Amino acid sequence: MHKKLFIPGPVEVRPEVLEQMAQPLIGHRSKEASSLQKRISNNLRKVFFTNSEILLSTTSGSGLMEGAIRSCTAKRAAVFSVGAFGKRWYDMAVSNNVPADLFEVEMGQAINAEMVNDVLKTGKYDLIAVTHNETSTGVMNPIDEIGEIVKKYDDIIFIVDAVSSAAGTKIEVDKWGIDICITSSQKALGLPPGISLCTFSQRAKERAEKVKNRGTYLDLLSLYNYIQKKDYQYPSTPSISHMFALDYQLDYILNKEGLENRFNRHLELAKVVRNWAKKYFDLFADENHLSNTLTTVKNTRNIDISELNKELGKRGFVISNGYGSLKDKTFRIAHMADCTMEDLEELLVNINDILGLD
Ligand SMILES: *Cc1c(COP(=O)(O)O)cnc(C)c1O
Repeated sequence: MHKKLFIPGPVEVRPEVLEQMAQPLIGHRSKEASSLQKRISNNLRKVFFTNSEILLSTTSGSGLMEGAIRSCTAKRAAVFSVGAFGKRWYDMAVSNNVPADLFEVEMGQAINAEMVNDVLKTGKYDLIAVTHNETSTGVMNPIDEIGEIVKKYDDIIFIVDAVSSAAGTKIEVDKWGIDICITSSQKALGLPPGISLCTFSQRAKERAEKVKNRGTYLDLLSLYNYIQKKDYQYPSTPSISHMFALDYQLDYILNKEGLENRFNRHLELAKVVRNWAKKYFDLFADENHLSNTLTTVKNTRNIDISELNKELGKRGFVISNGYGSLKDKTFRIAHMADCTMEDLEELLVNINDILGLD
């Protein structure tokens, strides 16, 4: 039996989207490939509220995270972490010989703009990296407020990991001053894993031109330059099958569901899970900074989460245990991509039934 995924990636993918990937392939140097890629970029600009260029990568989101911090740090990166994924970005910098410092807050808390200001005013940094939606703790950082601070400094490149939030909640890339905003296919976009994409500003381009040793495959400047010269074709063979699915899904998101409706649906789903969590357990994250795409529930009843998942599995559902050190202390319910209220309520009814809650 297929288990419906309520884990924060990969997510449940609509059958029509899956079917797109079974189409016969086209050559990646064909006119059709150029127009497919251009259409995807134009539509993604709408999802991100940006005029920046879009870059696609046949890697998961981590590929672009590594590429971004390496390609655009000339002096030193300040990485702000609120959990597992922020920490991972710092480790990527270190392993690529990119000078970096890590700034952390307590798990469950968000980054505040004041903290960013204090770090930037030292003058030591020329790039900051922030996780928008921390998938381990269920915290959503105030990227708009952080962006206002970053704008006070001329030479800071602002890169954002929006892997588990983009297309599930509004991110206004240009208004918030984000230079590179990264996401993966298998989270709120509702596609299979295997491709990722980011916005790439002119400032990011100009910065990368000053950085030596940007690597090859994940050198964002060379990707940018190549697609300008070659009518949006990529230097190496991209996952064309993912592009078919992405193209189809973007049309659905923008023209069938509508962006605002999609963001609202995510928020409504989030509210239901938050209320459920508060009634029977508790929320792990700071209530002022809750994620709209997943909820990390504090395991106040000390339930056996793997046992719960085993029982859920028999009924055709799967949720996620806590991440890393939070493994048994929390569990996570993702409510992203094309999840409906009906799907979610069915899940919660089953959890209540298994745990004997009412
Ligand atoms: C899933 C996730 C990642 C990793 O993305 P991959 O596509 O698996 O490489 C990074 N950051 C956040 C916030 C995530 O949720």
